[in-house]
Amino acid sequence: MAPQIKYTKLFIDNEWVDSVSGKTFDTYTPHTGEVIASVAEGDKADVDLAVAAAKRAFHRNSEWRLLDASQRGELLNKFADLVQRDTEYLAELESYNNGMVMRMAPMLINGAIKSIRYFASLADKIQGTTIPSDGEVFSYTLKQPVGVCGLILPWNGPVAMYINKVCTALAAGCTMVVKPAEQTPLTALYLTALLVEAGVPKGVVNVINGFGETAGVALTHHSDVAKISFTGSLEVGKLIQQAAGANNLKRVTLELGGKSPLVIMDDADLALAVPYAAMGVFAHQGQICVAASRLFVHSKIYDQFVEAAIQFVKSYKMGNPADPTTQHGPQVDELMMNKVLNYIETGKKEGAKLVSGGKRVGDKGYYIEPTIFTNVTDDMTIAKEEIFGPVQSILKFDTLEEVIDRANATNYGLASGIFTTNINNALQFSKHVESGVCWVNTYLNFGGQTPFGGFKESGIGRENGINCVDPYLEVKTVTIAQPKKF
Ligand code: NAD
Repeated sequence: MAPQIKYTKLFIDNEWVDSVSGKTFDTYTPHTGEVIASVAEGDKADVDLAVAAAKRAFHRNSEWRLLDASQRGELLNKFADLVQRDTEYLAELESYNNGMVMRMAPMLINGAIKSIRYFASLADKIQGTTIPSDGEVFSYTLKQPVGVCGLILPWNGPVAMYINKVCTALAAGCTMVVKPAEQTPLTALYLTALLVEAGVPKGVVNVINGFGETAGVALTHHSDVAKISFTGSLEVGKLIQQAAGANNLKRVTLELGGKSPLVIMDDADLALAVPYAAMGVFAHQGQICVAASRLFVHSKIYDQFVEAAIQFVKSYKMGNPADPTTQHGPQVDELMMNKVLNYIETGKKEGAKLVSGGKRVGDKGYYIEPTIFTNVTDDMTIAKEEIFGPVQSILKFDTLEEVIDRANATNYGLASGIFTTNINNALQFSKHVESGVCWVNTYLNFGGQTPFGGFKESGIGRENGINCVDPYLEVKTVTIAQPKKF
């Protein structure tokens, strides 16, 4: 049975409201392509109201600013309890609106709950330093919340992305306006209702559903927004940085795309490497920023590996994401499905060998078979551009030196991986690969404690990890004259 949809409005100053224009837009389920709800559509006028509410909530005498840091931590822990209470519902809603399979959604939410508790624990550990300044002065630093933040989310992991950004900003003491992706607004709205239930003060968290070109642009150009945290495409990330530079020099952190290399050495344990390589690119139908979309396999084991990869993917069960036995669900929408199918056609035209999948399945919903190309070369489009779909491109290499250069020959630098039983290979590769994350004999291994973000054009800044609150803080140096210093 489809999950009940409880929230479809905008959330401003602790009220669920219609948009100023009264406009709405439809949201769909990728399983069938059918409309499942109409959601209030926010625009500049709504963003202005939400930013004004967030600004009031950031005033030095506001309820929020007067909370102790440890109380912010308590609020987050209460929120974690509520997300835990409603995990099943949230997972169903995520699956319904986004197409994430039910084998995966509760697992991701459980991971996100751990992250909330981790961020909660950081709230009262935000500390400045005392400084041994020269001369007759005493200096120390204060770390203070940056102000109103604009948090812009992608559609591919709506619950996890909301939790990462909102909870880090709350731990830091900021107020915020969240803009969920237009494809997947529903779980962000429900999570906001849980934050209210946990007791978040008025105006601290506001949510504006809407489109990037309208609501997103209004947020990134607003001069009362001090910081933007964005996860999404490289193309939009560049626009956001330009917008920040064009008005008030907002602080910007960007989590962008990738073309992540995964290397299988000839000494790898193939029983481990084959399933991990498949999961690395087929999990969530390839709609993951760290997708292992360039799979480099050593020439000595290439044929053996390809055969095993084809056999492995045959066992994948495709179908309704709500069925807990389904492994492979639909792409998020028709646009993305067609984009991926185009990449598959380009791969064939440019001479890659299609050895598995390659087709749309059915004419309802947005299903594409898990697809494997062999004989892929570095110059092919499918080896260069982010596909964001279930397409595994297998390339051949001969030496570690060669594969490090080829792995790094991209403007992206988000994730990488290597399977090897030789510690030296692992150390050399992980040292020289240009990526924010490198997995050795594992893949897609995340946690709130481990920093995540990209080198090069995969982003700016890091989420998670002990320093994750820093981008939401300003450092203030206070220097006090101390004439009789001794
Ligand atoms: P997208 O860039 O199209 O949209 C992301 C968000 O930005 C949406 O909320 C959208 O409405 C908004 N937006 C669009 N144009 C805007 C503009 N001009 N100004 C302000 N906001 C605007 O990305 P997407 O298709 O939702 O997500 C897929 C991309 O996200 C992929 O490239 C993927 O790799 C990347 N991603 C990265 C990470 C990471 O952590 N590095 C995680 C998930 C997804």
